[in-house]
Amino acid sequence: MARREAPAAGPGSRALVVDVVRSAVAVSRVELAELTGLTQPSISLIVRDLIADGVILESGSADSVRGAPRKLLAIAPGSRFGIGFHLGPDTVTSVAVDLTGGVVGREVVPLDGSPDPDLLAARFDDFAAGLDLPRDRVEGLAVVAPAARVSPEWATVLSGRLGIPVLIENDSAAAALGEFWSRRVSRDQSFGCVYLSTGVGAGLVFGGALFRGTSFDAGELGHLSIAYDGRPCPCGNTGCVERYASMAATVEAARADQDLSSRLRLGGSVSSAYDALARAAVSGDHAAFEFVDQAAAYLAVAVTSMVNLLDLGRLVLTGPGMAVAGSIYARRLRTHLAATAHARHRHEITVDLSAQPRDAAAIGAAALVVQASIAPGHTPSLTAPSR
Ligand SMILES: [Zn+2]
Repeated sequence: MARREAPAAGPGSRALVVDVVRSAVAVSRVELAELTGLTQPSISLIVRDLIADGVILESGSADSVRGAPRKLLAIAPGSRFGIGFHLGPDTVTSVAVDLTGGVVGREVVPLDGSPDPDLLAARFDDFAAGLDLPRDRVEGLAVVAPAARVSPEWATVLSGRLGIPVLIENDSAAAALGEFWSRRVSRDQSFGCVYLSTGVGAGLVFGGALFRGTSFDAGELGHLSIAYDGRPCPCGNTGCVERYASMAATVEAARADQDLSSRLRLGGSVSSAYDALARAAVSGDHAAFEFVDQAAAYLAVAVTSMVNLLDLGRLVLTGPGMAVAGSIYARRLRTHLAATAHARHRHEITVDLSAQPRDAAAIGAAALVVQASIAPGHTPSLTAPSR
């Protein structure tokens, strides 16, 4: 691995050390100095503080060429926890994760009416009461949703009500950070996440931090146009990929096939109709497969443009739209990238499917809390309760 410029001391160095320990699984102090470019005395000090704070532990030892065996360092999973809420169209998914991003609690409840800080505070109390976790080890709460559904000001109101740090984030971005954290992706990797839901979003992690743009609006993959004279979009543009490849667009196209629509009972909500279509598509129903595969082909064109623009090295496909038929999207995307991606002759572009696509945004929210509390220096940061 290339040696970096020695980073300045401060919170950034601590975040760097945590990030390298997290992605390496187990690493010695000597290797940490090599991988971070920090001096050995700086590493010793930072590691001493992180062990004292319970963030990392000495997990065993590796053979050394000469002298004493080197102690290996690893993240201490159970010392702290983050809680994440994802506000879906009609549910709230709540999860708690440990410091490695492992899920230690999960609950899905119906969402009645539009969410507000009162409802979320009550939800937090219910969820925390049902968890067998010491309350003083809960580092905070992150609430994620499509950007338009939550207000950043809620962080102040909620942290005041609950007495813990809170952050608000968009769901695609959170899902990307969650996948980055739990997959132990290296911070050297330019990492992207495609989030397929009623809309289409993306999250981007560069240098270990979420890329958020000028107004926290980065990753609007759904409004990347794939046709100058294409379908009009409510955003004002034409040919936005969301109009062709979102769950809603795919269901709309399939419903126009009346034989398929009545056979698969595609009435009802977009989510239930999409799931029925996706199940049929992966069980050999040719007509259903054609609709999902067509959506996947549209999405592959847009995602390839994103990969080319940003020279991404690794992608994860996630969100409820990938839960059943993710393999169809992955195959289309891998084929398209292998044939057309600009960097295909220089490096591999890995496409993986999320292990928990329906919960990815909630898990990502909780991972954001973990990152913000143990590796501060990245954005977003938690809003602490005022005293
Ligand atoms: Zn649009």
